[in-house]
Amino acid sequence: MEVETRVRFAPSPTGALHVGSARTALFNYLFAKKHHGKFILRLEDTDKERNQKVFEQDIEAGLKWLGLKWDEKYQQSKRIDIYQKHLQALLDKNLAYKKDNAIYFRTPTSGKIIVNDVIRGEVEFDATSFDDFIIAKSNGDFVFHFVNVIDDMEMRISHVIRGEDHLSNTPKHILLFQALSARVPEYAHIPLILNSDRSKMSKRSGDVNFSDYIKKGYLPSALINFLAQIGWSDPTNREFFTLEELVKVFDLSRVQKAGAVFDVKYLNHINHHYLTQLSLDEYYKLAKKYIPFKGTSIYHKKVLKLIQERAEYLAELPKLMEFFYTTPDYNKDLLVFKKSTPALTNKGLTLALNVLSSTAKTVWKEKHLQQILDLSIAAEGLSLGDVFWPVRVALSGLAGSPSPVEMLNVLGKEESLKRISTALTKING
Ligand code: GLU
Repeated sequence: MEVETRVRFAPSPTGALHVGSARTALFNYLFAKKHHGKFILRLEDTDKERNQKVFEQDIEAGLKWLGLKWDEKYQQSKRIDIYQKHLQALLDKNLAYKKDNAIYFRTPTSGKIIVNDVIRGEVEFDATSFDDFIIAKSNGDFVFHFVNVIDDMEMRISHVIRGEDHLSNTPKHILLFQALSARVPEYAHIPLILNSDRSKMSKRSGDVNFSDYIKKGYLPSALINFLAQIGWSDPTNREFFTLEELVKVFDLSRVQKAGAVFDVKYLNHINHHYLTQLSLDEYYKLAKKYIPFKGTSIYHKKVLKLIQERAEYLAELPKLMEFFYTTPDYNKDLLVFKKSTPALTNKGLTLALNVLSSTAKTVWKEKHLQQILDLSIAAEGLSLGDVFWPVRVALSGLAGSPSPVEMLNVLGKEESLKRISTALTKING
């Protein structure tokens, strides 16, 4: 009889959802859906001192935000009777014993334990290297190894997909399954996530909390693609998939053994892609809460239209949008293009000021502004860098920005002229 695919994501709510755990959840989800099985959320909350409700909520919120719907949910703290029953059975069979009020599981004194891992193949352990271990503490609390295995057995888990850090626990778990006469699940230990310098990603090394990425304005679609590609790659090197498409192509056996680097630049690249796919209205809806500046929604949208191509995540918006709301501050040297001179820059800015002053508001449109500036530049024998470069800096205070005519259009005649005059004063100062 074919075994039904049942996998579980089993976080301990002793901390917020970690990006690595989010990836473990995703791999479990993809595997379950690919095999028309069940994805189970199991909160391993037996550590009364360290568990917190807020962490549980954070974990569930993260999964929901990603769109990883679970089919069943369990909480270990509500299953104590089940653990008690199995503990008693092990004691009755003399497979466990009491010592100093704790309960110890009896491990074999010889032989090998083979972990059959989908990613790593057969991993062999020497049974003698595992001493008898505690499964229930003297205060009555159950130990992780025990409840983890009881639940995998009770929940008929077919595949255990979890972080590589658990590989060393797996022989103990296999011994427990055997003692309980239960079927040992298939295992897949997925590689750890590393920083770009290949050190282990830990709390100390930056943003490891999943909610930080939500707060920074990354999109679920981007994080799904990014997390899927930490340690797994599509054979065709395709980068962008919907969750449904990933379900089809995801293959556990293509997950690499070696640690996988968390490359935030790649995440930014993916997120940028998805942000640029949004309509302006959709973009504005998401961006709104990141805009700290006063302005009408019409003005905000005009600005966003120019910025949408540039922002990699939404928390960058204040920095990218700022000069549309406040007068920019910059060093006057920036006004001079590298192939120009202060004298030519002065000429260029004066020309721009004159031409733009005599342009009626009714024709203050990108195309027209571009045309008249181009024509006057040619007529005066100046180069583009003598005019457009300092105008760009005058308007934005930056060397990189949307095009000068786009900014002129959004800032409007009055504000643009004011900024160009200021630039002229600076360059002559
Ligand atoms: N509660 C364990 C953890 O968060 C679960 C390990 C497992 O998936 O078996 O690391």
